[in-house]
Amino acid sequence: MKRIHSEQLYEEALKHIVGGVNSPSRSFKAVGGGAPVFMKRAQGAHFWDVDDNRYVDYLAAYGPIITGHAHPHITRAIQEAAANGTLYGTPTELEIKMAKMLKQAIPSMDKVRFVNSGTEAVMTTIRVARAYTKRNKIIKFAGCYHGHSDLVLVAAGSGPSTLGIPDSAGIPTSIAHEVITVPFNDAPALKEALDKWGDDVAAVMVEPIVGNFGMVMPKPGFLEDLCRLTRQYGALVIYDEVITAFRFHYGSAQTYAGLDNHEAIAPDLTALGKIIGGGLPIGAYGGTKEVMEQVAPLGPAYQAGTMAGNPASISAGIACLEVLQTPGVYEEMERLTIKLTNGLAGFARQYGIPLTINRIRGSFSTHFCDHPVTNYDEAQDTNGEMFAAFFRAMLNRGVNLAPSKYEAWFLTTAHTEEDIDFTLEAAEASFKEINGS
Ligand code: PMP
Repeated sequence: MKRIHSEQLYEEALKHIVGGVNSPSRSFKAVGGGAPVFMKRAQGAHFWDVDDNRYVDYLAAYGPIITGHAHPHITRAIQEAAANGTLYGTPTELEIKMAKMLKQAIPSMDKVRFVNSGTEAVMTTIRVARAYTKRNKIIKFAGCYHGHSDLVLVAAGSGPSTLGIPDSAGIPTSIAHEVITVPFNDAPALKEALDKWGDDVAAVMVEPIVGNFGMVMPKPGFLEDLCRLTRQYGALVIYDEVITAFRFHYGSAQTYAGLDNHEAIAPDLTALGKIIGGGLPIGAYGGTKEVMEQVAPLGPAYQAGTMAGNPASISAGIACLEVLQTPGVYEEMERLTIKLTNGLAGFARQYGIPLTINRIRGSFSTHFCDHPVTNYDEAQDTNGEMFAAFFRAMLNRGVNLAPSKYEAWFLTTAHTEEDIDFTLEAAEASFKEINGS
């Protein structure tokens, strides 16, 4: 497959845009470098690049595009919104409609506020939790990604219960010291951290189902333990559901049938993004009335946004949620995903490729290893070179995956049986190529 124009555009982009990309996850650095593919059009489950190659897409723009690209219901909603003015700087009725839809689907949220990205949503939940508890520290879990605000770009220190170290230049050590990182699925490590610093912990932040080192379910009881221990120490529970909300069912991970005890695992604050914007920029956060009343203009925690709640993003979000209310959409995504993952597992076995697949309804991750992946250490201990070879082999056969061994595959309501068959054919040939037979 030739990608001459992509290569030319990459050369040009490098001159004007730092690294040639507007988000580092789009670069091919983690899969051996070179030009990323420049896409020019997307429709349903398919992309066309600037060289007119077609790809079946499993990136779904890192999650938001759950209805497939350019879904007509969403496109119409955006067009109508744009024709009425894209940004008002005043409240609109649409925002109320959308807030009600979110509250109905995620009952732990009494009050909602819209922002423009997942990063903003998470950053603000932390501020609100600090304002409410009048404490400073937060506890997070290794490998969970919560956007690029200072506090959450912090990695674990050298022990299981040490203060954090900055994961990026430009973050003062003093800020990193406000963050404690513990392993996911490890309640004893969380308890140890709380025993040590609990008096100053404002919140424990978690992706309740992980989407950022592959798809990883919490072990039975982990979220219950997390909520119980956190509250024992007077801290708040924050769920980052930027990926998970509306991904597995019409609702969020905290109400997902795959997890029990919904009341025992309900958080105080939830951060949202991605799917709820139907492909336009959005974020939102919400929580209990008491906690949310910390936010300005009611309370002392300030948060604002010129673009927040703009009619285009809100209309796209409402339209996307309406599509997801169609009976059977999640079941169909799951049916096709099972077919795909069964096929992948079978070919991997046949060609001697070690492969651990974590599937949760219509999403899954492929870790090139022969052990389970339940935390970040296990996700790191996988064959990155083999993933890179697989990624390129699939790309050359017209299948677009995220260029990182940690990212998930996302199905959409637009994928068809034919797309799955095409993908499996590509996968068989790719596995064959990788193992040299
Ligand atoms: N939280 C999670 C769980 C995410 O996966 C991401 C983005 N991948 C973010 C927050 C940040 O969202 P955004 O990129 O919209 O700022």
